[in-house]
Amino acid sequence: MRHRALLACLTGLLVLLVAGCGDGGGTPTATAPTSPPPSAALPPEPTPSPTRTVPPKPPLRPLPAKLPAGLVRTTGTAKVALTFDDGPDPAWTPKVLDRLKAAKVTATFCVVGTQVRKHPGLLRRIVREGHQLCNHSWNHDLDLARRPVAEIRADLVRTNREIRRAVPKAKVPFYRQPGGRWTAEVVKVAKQLDMRSLHWTVDPQDWAKPTAATIEKRVKRSARPGAVVLLHDGGGDRAATLAACAKLIAGLKRDHGVAGLT
Ligand SMILES: [Zn+2]
Repeated sequence: MRHRALLACLTGLLVLLVAGCGDGGGTPTATAPTSPPPSAALPPEPTPSPTRTVPPKPPLRPLPAKLPAGLVRTTGTAKVALTFDDGPDPAWTPKVLDRLKAAKVTATFCVVGTQVRKHPGLLRRIVREGHQLCNHSWNHDLDLARRPVAEIRADLVRTNREIRRAVPKAKVPFYRQPGGRWTAEVVKVAKQLDMRSLHWTVDPQDWAKPTAATIEKRVKRSARPGAVVLLHDGGGDRAATLAACAKLIAGLKRDHGVAGLT
């Protein structure tokens, strides 16, 4: 009996462990701890009546094999641009802003709606210091671009509304799809909402926690004139990104020049 109980306990533990490791982490932000499961935001389902059944959720549309048309992937000039995703974050965003100020450069912050709601003061500081804003979805939904167009639109509108609650009349000229998992549909919705879809040229994969030296080396090696560099100021421990900033920015300034996106 004792043996059986122990076995049941171990099986339960194994199930828990497997369930906890389901997040493969193949994309920059797949492991972002701030994203609750998509179902968390949904209202409770109505009780089904015998005469009417609840329609099933529409299937996700497939991701295209290659990136859709219409993405901004370069600056359009010789200078390179810095982008910081997944904030604002109280631990890292202020320090990133300090680095940018010290280097006298501006960047684009791709902000998540739920983070803006929690930290509106940080968003105000981003704008006050001359940086640009980019909508990065309400809750970092990696599958947002695959959902029905009405859901995509509602998510982007809600995020912009939260941004403008923190900074009335804030300009949000860009949208960036979480994980870079774009579809033609999300690009179209963003355009209808006056946002250009911002991808990137250089991804040093700082989300995968390389050392600061590796982040800096990867950016230096891959940056070409006009590059858009993807970095993160939120979604996890960004100590290495922060530590890389000073040298990385100085190198980019020297080699190409750094400018905000226009
Ligand atoms: Zn992201």
